[in-house]
Amino acid sequence: MSGTLVRYTRYLIAALVIAFIVASSPVRAEEEKPMVKYALVIHGGAGKIDQARMTAELETAYHEMLLAALKAGQTVLANGGTSLDAIIAAIVPMEDSLLFNAGKGAVFTNAGTNELDASIMDGKTLQAGAVAGVMRVKNPILLARAVMDISPHVMLQGDGADTFAEENGLEMVEQDYFYTERRWKQLEILRGNDKTGRLLDPLDEKFGTVGAVALDVHGNLAAATSTGGTANKRWGRVGDSPIIGAGTYANNRSCGVSGTGDGEYFIRATVASSICHLVEYKGLSLEEAATAVVMEQLVQMGGSGGIISLDKDGNVALIFNSESMFRGWVKAGQDPVTSIYKD
Ligand code: ASP
Repeated sequence: MSGTLVRYTRYLIAALVIAFIVASSPVRAEEEKPMVKYALVIHGGAGKIDQARMTAELETAYHEMLLAALKAGQTVLANGGTSLDAIIAAIVPMEDSLLFNAGKGAVFTNAGTNELDASIMDGKTLQAGAVAGVMRVKNPILLARAVMDISPHVMLQGDGADTFAEENGLEMVEQDYFYTERRWKQLEILRGNDKTGRLLDPLDEKFGTVGAVALDVHGNLAAATSTGGTANKRWGRVGDSPIIGAGTYANNRSCGVSGTGDGEYFIRATVASSICHLVEYKGLSLEEAATAVVMEQLVQMGGSGGIISLDKDGNVALIFNSESMFRGWVKAGQDPVTSIYKD
């Protein structure tokens, strides 16, 4: 009788010890950590702001527009939509806004035209689409998506790209759709015709490219960028924004990145793919990788600008070596945040 009691007592103690070990094991602690179900980061360009001339109204307008873009993308992600659809949903309103150097608000070339660039990449399939120097499509990011989805190519440029847009039913506009007084004045100053040297807004002439990176509930990353390029550009100049690996990159194995800044430097530093490769092959955290490329390599080369990025676990890195970067981010279960200056 007492032998049986001793045996039961031993079983009971063993069971209690096992229950304690299971309850306190790191695996269980990991399971209890709230998972990032989705995440979205956006930017509206990097550069220099003349803070003495930045009005509270203009600042509010930028915050509101960034918030509207974040919410549009977040709605897609919260309903189980794809990261590709979310970044498109976030970028289209920024292309349609006067505030950014993309779509409607694009800068002028030296010839007085508007030539737009955009790209998109799917981190799951490594499919990509890009357009450069388009002049008639209303939303270049939709054209980049169409190039990826329904053409056999990755990159189309100039009139051919616009023709492809038209043939596939995208909304087309005349060049004067892109006219804004602010950008025209900027061009006249850069061309030396306007001697006042006084821009109509407090942002430097490069500011305003837009981009987005998303991680969806299916675990897929995607990234996209859209721009009017640099003001007063000549000879069919193309920057980094439509170049996969330079301005845009996404790979589920590592991260998604969209950049903004001096395109000539971003191209030579292959900024977007370098960050993801440092994550994948060197085991750096996203923050470490983005810092190495943007704050070390680009700075050494003399390139100014920044990036927004997300890794496959939903970690966020928003890094810029310029004075400011319009940016915003949101994760499942959290309120969206927008920011302009250094924190
Ligand atoms: N990276 C863009 C370009 O060089 C400009 C920008 O991001 O502001 O075309």
